[in-house]
Amino acid sequence: MASLYRHIVIMGPPGSGKGTQSAVLTEKIGLYNISTGDLLRQVSAEDTPLGHEVKGLIDKGNFVPDETIVKVMQEQLAKIPEEKGYILDGFPRTLPQAKALDEMMASQMPGRGLDLVLFLQVPDAYVIERIIGRSKCAHCGALYHERYKQPKVFGICDVCGHKEFERREDDTYETVLLRLQKYRKLTEPVIPYYEDKGLLVCIDGVGPIDVVAEKIRQVVGY
Ligand code: AMP
Repeated sequence: MASLYRHIVIMGPPGSGKGTQSAVLTEKIGLYNISTGDLLRQVSAEDTPLGHEVKGLIDKGNFVPDETIVKVMQEQLAKIPEEKGYILDGFPRTLPQAKALDEMMASQMPGRGLDLVLFLQVPDAYVIERIIGRSKCAHCGALYHERYKQPKVFGICDVCGHKEFERREDDTYETVLLRLQKYRKLTEPVIPYYEDKGLLVCIDGVGPIDVVAEKIRQVVGY
């Protein structure tokens, strides 16, 4: 069955499963996936003034300035093939970003504006446990968690067979608390913005990956 919704934003606190569930949707219905966190981590790995600046912000749990990320997104949105649906993970994260996204969609991609905003609800206690335990394959980026998603064979990536795993530098207890504070102050105000537009669907993000994925499947309609 073709999916009902193909122009999607996925929101939620850090560690709510946005990246994991975006990957599921991307695979199941062939969406174009844009993760601003992944993009910014690529930038932060570069030995350039911008790379150093971005790394300094991310590693301390701060947001990158709106103008910077909006410029990055402007370029990224232009890469989405016209016939493809998309899922935006990690953007918008502030009200000015949400408004800038509306403007970019109207001017850059008329007729392909958002039709769904998925909001993953996860209490703080889960967020901290999920973030502290997570890692990814250093080779292909497949996501794991020491409690909730271990590789089938210990120490070997299910997807590509490599044996090195890495953790994000901003996934420490202290940084998670700061990221949660930023989330409350800057990202939560975006929720009523999309609610007023009739785009918001809340999903209970607590529980195993496949259970949450099934809830999303029922909403998206694939
Ligand atoms: P994420 O992988 O989505 O958790 O993002 C990791 C970090 O990248 C965040 O804690 C922010 O520092 C930064 N970041 C990602 N997306 C944005 C955004 N839309 N605006 C500002 N900073 C962002």
